[in-house]
Amino acid sequence: MGLLARAGARLTSHPEEAEILIVNTCSFIDTAKQESVDTILEMARYKTSGSAKKLIVAGCLVERYRDEIQKNIPEVDAVVGTGEIESILEAAGLKAVAPAPGAASPSSFNILSSRGGEAEARPGQESLSGTHKTVAKEPVSAKGTGFSPYISAMESTGALAPEGSFSGAPRSRAEGELHERQGRFGREGWQGAARELPTYLYDETSPRLLTTPKSSAYIKIAEGCDHPCSFCVIPNLRGKFRSRRFESVIAEARQLVAQGVREITLIGQDTTCYGEDLDLKDGLAQLLDALARIDGLRWLRFLYAYPNRVTGKLLETIARHDNICNYLDLPLQHASPSVLKRMKRGGSPEIFLKTLEKARSIIPGVALRTAFITGFPGESPRDFEILEEFVKEAKFDWLGVFSYSDEEGSSAFSLSAKLPRRTIEARRRKLMKLQQSISKRAKQQWVGRELLLLAQGESEETPLLWEGRTQFHAPEIDGKVYINDFGELASLEPGRFYNAEITEAHEYDIVARIVSKPL
Ligand code: SF4
Repeated sequence: MGLLARAGARLTSHPEEAEILIVNTCSFIDTAKQESVDTILEMARYKTSGSAKKLIVAGCLVERYRDEIQKNIPEVDAVVGTGEIESILEAAGLKAVAPAPGAASPSSFNILSSRGGEAEARPGQESLSGTHKTVAKEPVSAKGTGFSPYISAMESTGALAPEGSFSGAPRSRAEGELHERQGRFGREGWQGAARELPTYLYDETSPRLLTTPKSSAYIKIAEGCDHPCSFCVIPNLRGKFRSRRFESVIAEARQLVAQGVREITLIGQDTTCYGEDLDLKDGLAQLLDALARIDGLRWLRFLYAYPNRVTGKLLETIARHDNICNYLDLPLQHASPSVLKRMKRGGSPEIFLKTLEKARSIIPGVALRTAFITGFPGESPRDFEILEEFVKEAKFDWLGVFSYSDEEGSSAFSLSAKLPRRTIEARRRKLMKLQQSISKRAKQQWVGRELLLLAQGESEETPLLWEGRTQFHAPEIDGKVYINDFGELASLEPGRFYNAEITEAHEYDIVARIVSKPL
């Protein structure tokens, strides 16, 4: 969107107004593919009716079905894979424009999303975006759009310099090379897929429009994944793991904070491998340490930690900084050792419990989030029982459960003993039900506490309530904090922090009363 806006497109979230329609797709499981295709077909109607001139499909669905999309949906004019972001301009018929010196900071843009209000994380370290439709009005001259990319004018100071080399280009990790030789990233069996694996990485000079509320932003610190998880095709879609340069992430974060962002969430398919290809030891811990020192940044967190990469140093870094949220997202996928082995992830309830205990002892009060998959091929009733017992014992604050999706190209696709869909779904529902009471008990411990709250705005459900988040709630994925009492204030400002007392706890959501002025 940043590239399009810089090239002169005016963006709109109303497809009926647009001349060019862009659908940014997801493709990692069946439901995501279906959602993507449905959105493309919905947008194609605007082309058929004559209101739109061009339809462009971008993102992971293009990596998987490049040829098929164009063959089967003739309304599609161009496709843009995840590794060829810059060709979006050519696809839209726009020319690249150099950034204007001293131009205004980028604004935010309210993107149309076809995602529902799902309160669950995706299994594993998946892309943040669901299927998005972005629409561009007829291109106009870049002059007068009021937009220019933000450019980093930040220098790396000694205080921010990490140990190890950090300015070089990312190199392949040994694990990635080994798995590549073993065919991990192969697309040979995928008819119609894009041939080349993506290698693209954005940096601090890439123009970007925020689609999040003004106070919050995501920063992607790495792309791709080298892990061999047998149910997952994300590495085949996104390519080998590669980190963004340390300085580039810091520069982007400083720029965002200068624009008014107060909360940054670091993402990537695997954030805990950050810096391994740059020769950084404990790269994520070093990155967090440097980011936490940016003045004005109130909340910093990362998502999608890989279990065996949660080091003591990483946990200590979270504990050391007040502005790093006491929050750890650790998708475990299962707890039964035999399922984990066939998932090619490894681990056991004992190992996982030790990790959780360590996190809780180093970061008192840490909120823990995880995700599991039910119905992996061969998951026996006993395997599922082990998972249930583990969930009871681990007492996660937040938990997402996903039904196994059989993906062509994953190594689990060829496994026998596939489970019937109804068993997969019944187990998913059972695990969610079990978590409900655990979650409620965990939330009750917050009642009576005073917590810092980021006010988000009026609730979508009723204008009588506002919504906010505490440091224990990651954007978009965790339960809600409803504000039903503004205390002495006549109104709240979205994007501002307040102290609030938690007054009620429900299964996933809590209720709060404001007890301070904006902080
Ligand atoms: S391969 Fe494993 S670690 Fe990598 S994105 Fe998939 S689930 Fe996550």
